[in-house]
Amino acid sequence: MSKGNIGVTSANIFPVIKKFLYSDHEIFLRELVSNAVDATQKLKTLASVGEFKGELGDVTVRVSVDKKKGTLTISDRGIGMTAEEIDKYINQIAFSGAEEFLEKYKNDAQAIIGHFGLGFYSSFMVSKKVEIFTQSYKENTTAQHWACKGDPEYTLEDTIKSDRGTDIVLHIDDENKDFLEESKIQELLTKYCKFLPVEIAFGKKKEWKDGKQIETDEDNIINNTTPAWTKKPADLKEEDYQNFYRDLFPMSEEPLFHIHLNVDYPFNLTGILYFPKIKNNIDIQRNKIQLYCNQVFVTDHVENIVPEYLTLLHGVIDSPDIPLNVSRSYLQSDANVKKISNHITKKVADRLAEIFKNEREDFEKKWDNLKIFIQYGMLSDEKFYERAEKFALLKNVEDKYFTFDEYKTLVGENQKDKNGDLIYLYATNKDEQYSYIQQAQDKGYDVLIMDGQLDVHVISQLEQKFEKTRFVRVDSDVIDKIIQKEDSAKVELNDEQRNALVSVFESQLPNNDKANFIVTFEQLSATSTPVFITQNEFMRRMKDMSALQGGMMNFYGEMPDSYNLVINTAHPLIDKLLKDEETACSAEVAPMATELNEVKAKHDQLKESQKDKKDEEIPAAEKDELAALDKQISELEDKKKSVYKGFATENKQVRQLIDLALLANNMLKGEALANFVKRSVELM
Ligand code: ADP
Repeated sequence: MSKGNIGVTSANIFPVIKKFLYSDHEIFLRELVSNAVDATQKLKTLASVGEFKGELGDVTVRVSVDKKKGTLTISDRGIGMTAEEIDKYINQIAFSGAEEFLEKYKNDAQAIIGHFGLGFYSSFMVSKKVEIFTQSYKENTTAQHWACKGDPEYTLEDTIKSDRGTDIVLHIDDENKDFLEESKIQELLTKYCKFLPVEIAFGKKKEWKDGKQIETDEDNIINNTTPAWTKKPADLKEEDYQNFYRDLFPMSEEPLFHIHLNVDYPFNLTGILYFPKIKNNIDIQRNKIQLYCNQVFVTDHVENIVPEYLTLLHGVIDSPDIPLNVSRSYLQSDANVKKISNHITKKVADRLAEIFKNEREDFEKKWDNLKIFIQYGMLSDEKFYERAEKFALLKNVEDKYFTFDEYKTLVGENQKDKNGDLIYLYATNKDEQYSYIQQAQDKGYDVLIMDGQLDVHVISQLEQKFEKTRFVRVDSDVIDKIIQKEDSAKVELNDEQRNALVSVFESQLPNNDKANFIVTFEQLSATSTPVFITQNEFMRRMKDMSALQGGMMNFYGEMPDSYNLVINTAHPLIDKLLKDEETACSAEVAPMATELNEVKAKHDQLKESQKDKKDEEIPAAEKDELAALDKQISELEDKKKSVYKGFATENKQVRQLIDLALLANNMLKGEALANFVKRSVELM
């Protein structure tokens, strides 16, 4: 038996392993099982080139727990190790600048283990003692027993081991007893070893018999040694891809498409990515791309390896060329990683372009689910935009789909306004904006539906990309104003009439702090709606953006929604209303109006005479007089308003017209709606 100290040059690794690496304890199992798999594959390679002439036999890697002894054992029938090899590979760990590095990455076990090639030593994170029993495949070698209790001292002695290969026996320490639980080991093996290329058995398969679970003779193999991504695309059917997806994400809905990645130059990368079926709420769906290195699970945090927007995809990537055991910030600057990221982007775009070209109908069917990925990509990656602009689609309210070019051809001439600007009309809700959509369609215009989570941003982007093109929501103004073909007809009302109508309608508008209404006039046609509501495109967009972003934009978010109540002065109902108002109010209002005019004239005269004077040159008496006139004006105006209000309250049509406009906008709710129904019956 020999004794020695593990060759650590500048730091004792054990306290570090024990003390610092507390976050990722569980990865020890991955390290040990992959070592076992490596040893097995090496032997297979040797056999295939004729260097190993014996029987390979059963090469299943076996993991077992002995709760009584407190041990976890990983056994393989691989190449094994000779005494010299143990000395070389296990006993000598050379460090340089270790302390500094350890201090920096003390919470990142992955980084430390990777940096020092400490795979095997990670077993000390959970063990008070580790033993190796190993018999090399080489002829005339003696089996070896190595043991170490987590200090630099180890023992190495000859032993007897009938079988070729290595058993690693971990004596689990008291703080890590959960690694003796079958369910825990099963969970970890499933997480890290599910697709390792050599079969791994964890105990025996169980069966229900007489209400009890009993063990069968069959090994409980926890892995699939040839997962779909390791096969050639030509050897796989659509069904195989679907099955593999279900294997990865048992609870998910069927995916839309898959992309099989297969590159061997200038780097190695394989994998399958799926477009999952999601519509909203992008956030929940992240972390569904698993990164493997030669079929060993590494992480499901791939933010630095695939572009942001593609982290929405699901699937696996396997690459031995991604430096796995390094810090995240390092990953971002790694040239290989950048190349991989670009490559994946290109592949995804190519695949989408191909499906669009060959299976347009299917592509259109899936567009609603797909669009969030494509839009996200277009918004965040210029290169992707350039590719996607050929297959990205716009959908209209009739559920027809168009490419950007096709849509431009469709509306190009028809929807140009008098300044030559092309107007893309859109709706965000077919039901709520129904009447506006109808009006636009009556004019022969087309209306897009833009109801997606990212559409607000997409609209801004497309306005920047397309020449002389604006997107306007169909309810943001009268259709003839949205696409103004000629100068609009003049509203033929005198000031008194305008004032009267404004007062009449204002007095009946709903009062709340969520919505502001401004009464405006348009001379439309006699057959258009008499009164309707529009919302300014700019203000609404600002509010939409602020709802999505918060922060600086919050200013807009806090403001009440601002609407126009548009009165169509060409409509006979308005004409009649005006006449009724004159009949009902003129006797009372006329003297007020005369008086108001006189007071205003006086007021203006006085103002005029003060025009060139500085404030201190104006006599106090004059100031008082002006203030008195101001007061008189506002009192008279209020008086007039209250006459109009009296008329409007009596005349149920005003409220009815407003409610109809609100109703058309889906803004009439609750009590107001009940009142409307009641009034409608009364009016009948
Ligand atoms: P790495 O696997 O990154 O080289 P490890 O510390 O995990 O680092 O292992 C060190 C070396 O010990 C391996 O390269 C291998 O030569 C040897 N080794 C570890 N486990 C086994 C095993 N089960 N069978 C044969 N050799 C092994």
